[in-house]
Amino acid sequence: MKPRRVSKAINVGDVVVGGSAPITVQSMTKTDTRDVKATVRQIKELEEAGCDIIRPAVPDMEAAKALREIKKQVKIPVIADIHFHYQLALEAIAAGVDGLRLNPGNIRDKEKVELVVRAAKQIPIRIGVNFGSLPPVGQIGKFGGLHRHTDGVNKLAKAGEAVEGQFSVVDHMVATALWEISILEDLDFDLIKISLKAFDVPTTVEAYRRLAYMVPYPMHLGITEAGTARAGSIRSAVGLGYLLYEGIGDTIRVSLSADSKEEVVAGYDILKSLNLRQKGTTLVACPSCGRADVDVITLANKVDALLQEKSYNVKVAVMGCEVNGPGEAKDADVGIAAGVGRAVIFRKGQKARVVEESEMLTALMEEVEKVAAEQAGQD
Ligand code: SF4
Repeated sequence: MKPRRVSKAINVGDVVVGGSAPITVQSMTKTDTRDVKATVRQIKELEEAGCDIIRPAVPDMEAAKALREIKKQVKIPVIADIHFHYQLALEAIAAGVDGLRLNPGNIRDKEKVELVVRAAKQIPIRIGVNFGSLPPVGQIGKFGGLHRHTDGVNKLAKAGEAVEGQFSVVDHMVATALWEISILEDLDFDLIKISLKAFDVPTTVEAYRRLAYMVPYPMHLGITEAGTARAGSIRSAVGLGYLLYEGIGDTIRVSLSADSKEEVVAGYDILKSLNLRQKGTTLVACPSCGRADVDVITLANKVDALLQEKSYNVKVAVMGCEVNGPGEAKDADVGIAAGVGRAVIFRKGQKARVVEESEMLTALMEEVEKVAAEQAGQD
């Protein structure tokens, strides 16, 4: 795994993004932001699931005003997702949000952008470049001057030089990002995060890779419109996993057509898979085969459901046979290997106890609790 890219650390409320801070997991609320009660309830559920930063959409002034009350009732930092209405950004800032997601190029008026930047002061702004809403090539660089970073793409981003059709999608995304960044930099604002999302994984990966070493800002990773829980999690894991392995990425959001909690769980699963962050239990489960002595799939799903409720960092294995199970899962803190009519509970690959098949689920969970208690005692 490559060393993490060095990025500027910025504060989103009391959560640090970038630098050497842990990679954070974000999500968006899926409620109507104007419905304060429902939005607060959802944010609290997400906070419980481990969400570090939450982003409600702000489609109108009523939603912007609702942020004031939402902010009072939740603990995690709130980022207002603004499309192009600078008044909504100003209202969100006045409501006390901890960050904005806003593309200054969408506002199309430097004075209005300046009003937002001056009001934002210490509140960071994420520039979110999305494949589906790129500005026309000819619009890139129309205001905000040229960016200061040197690269071939920068030159193309100069107004008048960029020609539609001569840009690859990746060029277009990177040039757009550089232009958006330059608008803020020209106003001496550098509390910037950046994302470059597309549905297509290679496009997304290449765009992030290209931009990553041209600017110092922390990167928010995501695959846009990734899909339903299963397909979207896989698509996101492939794209985000590749980038994170390369050391790129400071905060992530897995966008799913599913409950936002699924996004948080998937985000942590991606980070856990790369040993970048631990949160909650990890389940190791064998795929089952002709040697299995029990219905491993049913057992693993039952254990998985029980572990979802636990917040401690215990690695648990469910293995289908005594012969290979303990050895194949020897790095698990605790595990079960089924035999004929009985099961072996093992710890770090060593046999701990033998139980009847009918008791194996209960016995495994007892052992998990013991390991968690021991870990807590060591803290
Ligand atoms: S642990 Fe046993 S049952 Fe499971 S895949 Fe390996 S050999 Fe097959």
